[in-house]
This record gives sequence, C-alpha cells and structure tokens, in this order.
Amino acid sequence: MRGAVVVTGGGKGIGATIARRFAEAGHPVLIFDRDEAAAVSCAGDIRSHGGVASTFVGSVTSEEDVAQAMQLAVERYAQLAVLVNNAGISCNRPTLELELDEWRRTLDVNLTGVFLCAREFARRVSAGDTESVILNLCSMYGVVAAPNRLGYCATKSGVAMMTKSLAVEWAELNIRVNAIAPGYIRTALLEELIADGRVDAEALLGRTPQKRFGTVEEVADLAFFLASPETRFMTGQIVGLDGGWTANG
Ligand code: NDP
Repeated sequence: MRGAVVVTGGGKGIGATIARRFAEAGHPVLIFDRDEAAAVSCAGDIRSHGGVASTFVGSVTSEEDVAQAMQLAVERYAQLAVLVNNAGISCNRPTLELELDEWRRTLDVNLTGVFLCAREFARRVSAGDTESVILNLCSMYGVVAAPNRLGYCATKSGVAMMTKSLAVEWAELNIRVNAIAPGYIRTALLEELIADGRVDAEALLGRTPQKRFGTVEEVADLAFFLASPETRFMTGQIVGLDGGWTANG
C-alpha cells in the first residue's frame, strides 16, 4: 500500500476531488473535514470505487482535533505520505463593514489551521529515506489583490510565505512544501453564486485570458503531479492555475 494522504476540507469541492484523485492512484486517504455528512459521503464514494478512505470530523483550528486526525491516519495506514492543506474559508465584504470576529475566523482557519496541520504532520513523518509532501491551497488572491476580500487576500498571501518558509526549514526533514494558487474554479459554490447573481460570471470570464473557469479535476491533477517523484527537486513554489488571470496585469 502507498503512503496515506490527509486532505483537510476533503469532504467537498476541490478537496474531495483531490482525495478521489489520490485514492484512484492507490493511496489510502483520510478526509479531515468539519462537515460530517460531506466527509462520509466522499469517503463512501471512494470506497465504492475500490479505494481506501476514512474520515475524521473536526476542525483544523483545534490543536487536539489535528493531533487526533493525524494519529488516526498513522494508526490506520502506518505511513503518512502527503498532507493537503485544503480547508479554507472566505469572507467577502467591504472592509469598512468587516467584523473583528469574521477577520479572526478567517485567520484562524486559513493560517492557524495550516500551521497546526503542517506541524503535526511533520512531527509524525520520520526524517530520512522516505520523502513526504505538503501541498497548501493558496489562491491567486494571495498573489494579486481584490477589493472586499481583505482577510482572504491577507491569509492566502500568508499561506504563500508559509509554503516558502516551511520548504526552507523542512528540506532537511525530507519534506517538500509547495502550493497551488487557483483562480476561479467551477465548484458547486461558484455555480450557486453565479445562479444567485452574487457573482458576475461574464465579468470574471472577460478578465480571464482563457475565457473559462478552471475545473476541480485540473486542481486535483496538479496536486497529484506536485506530490509525484517527477517534481522531487521542487519545493517552496507557488504554482498558479488561473487561466492567465495573474499574468494579465
Ligand atoms: P469548499 O468550501 O467547497 O470546501 C471546503 C471544505 O472545508 C468544506 O467542507 C468546509 O466545511 C471545510 N472546512 C472549512 N473550515 C474547516 C475547518 N476549520 N476544519 C475542517 N474543515 C473545514 O471550498 P473550495 O473547494 O471552494 O476551496 C478549497 C480550497 O481552495 C480553499 O482553501 C480555498 O480558499 C481554495 N481556493 C478555492 C477556489 C475556488 O474557486 N473554489 C479558488 C482559489 C482557492 P464547511 O462547508 O462546513 O465550511
């Protein structure tokens, strides 16, 4: 059996597709999500396709939950190979109306969650022969600015720097750390926002050189590639996946 993959926020959206992608390649997957129904459904789907998956229901912001989730993965699958720090939240509102607790919640999930999961994972993978990989879900809004998303932009920019800092610090532990910075990805949530008129699809596509949204499969394929031996000399990188948005200065 290949090493286990822990996917935070793996119950739905991008995380669920990443979990399925690794499971299809023979990795046992631990889906660590606060949404129990979504986690159970995703794990069930993986198992129905012949894969191996478990769930842990909890929050990446809780030191105790994070320790228990990693412990469960080690007990079930012995060897941890990959951590995908995918759980993330956004709070879209004008900064003049942003409440302190919304700001703190965004920092807690998007930054503290990444720190806690990365630290616990690194403590449990042994230095030496076997390489381990951490992949962080950043965002193009960690690279370029957008109005009404102060906490999201600040935290995703923080995730980019955490990616570089951890890559430098943990190279000696044989842990590679890279990040994916997606643009607009066609998730169920984006579909809903477009249908409600809260997101102007035409304006977003007009700004995107490739004139389309990305797919969750494209993010999962990139995640799988970044965890593969083909990228073994690559660490500390923030890889854009945005149809040309950030190149379109
Ligand atoms: P979703 O909201 O669809 O899924 C995220 C999952 O993570 C949900 O099940 C959510 O549960 C869970 N989650 C949230 N907070 C926690 C927590 N504290 N502990 C454990 N689980 C938690 O997200 P997406 O698939 O859209 O995005 C995934 C990642 O990709 C995020 O980091 C996001 O910032 C990034 N990204 C997404 C883009 C997009 O277009 N979708 C573009 C760029 C980056 P619940 O539903 O209960 O909150």
